[in-house]
Amino acid sequence: DVELVGLTKRFGSSVAVNTIDLQIAEASYCCLLGPSGCGKSTTLRMIAGHEEATSGDILVRDKQVTHLPPSRRGTAMMFQSYALFPHLNARDNVAFSLQMRGVGKAERNAKAQDLLELVEMTDYRDRRPHELSGGQQQRVALARALVNEPSVLLLDEPLSALDPFLRIRMREELKRIQRDLGITFIHVTHSQDEALALGDQVVVMQDGEIRQSGTARDVYETPQNEFVARFIGGHN
Ligand code: ATP
Ligand code: MG
Repeated sequence: DVELVGLTKRFGSSVAVNTIDLQIAEASYCCLLGPSGCGKSTTLRMIAGHEEATSGDILVRDKQVTHLPPSRRGTAMMFQSYALFPHLNARDNVAFSLQMRGVGKAERNAKAQDLLELVEMTDYRDRRPHELSGGQQQRVALARALVNEPSVLLLDEPLSALDPFLRIRMREELKRIQRDLGITFIHVTHSQDEALALGDQVVVMQDGEIRQSGTARDVYETPQNEFVARFIGGHN
């Protein structure tokens, strides 16, 4: 579904992402895992089109998207800080980009309603962000990211701002939503617990390179090198 070929990002003389090759299957849950600074967010931003690749190619559903703007890639991103519009209620936050595209009010509201149902937030549709908890804002942000029906949803540390209880709950929700929609999720995390619990595919990165990619079971039971063994075996 998503294919990266020799993807590289340099910032001046330093290399953040170093010629990575990766294939992610359609309708799968992929976790990008690795320590701080290893290039996870940079990789995600290049897939989304928020960061220009220095070299290499990005394909989404077999289509070359490397130089397309973010809105034309079939991807959507849910940001680390969820940045909802403070003056709009939950429903209008979700419907906002439909309004920008000239979709009529009835259709907008119906679509927003469906998505709020998916994230179990229909009871809160009239509330503005400051009237919602962090976890509830996160759900609205997720619904908003899904409104243009992306084939790939990109999530950068989506659970990091939540308390441990909500984190586990939201983790299960993400998996359910990914399955319900049948789209591909690429989820960046530095938590091996999260990656192993969620990922159909787990990709372990270090220093801008991929150290291993496989099923959660593969990387857990048969790490291909010492870094993966230590990182997966450790606790954080
Ligand atoms: P974290 O888990 O801390 O979020 P990460 O794996 O997401 O880390 P990236 O944000 O992708 O890491 O950063 C990879 C490397 O690229 C780091 O060394 C970082 O300092 C560097 N980097 C990222 N963005 C820029 C930028 N705009 N300019 C210069 N260097 C950058
Ligand atoms: Mg990051």
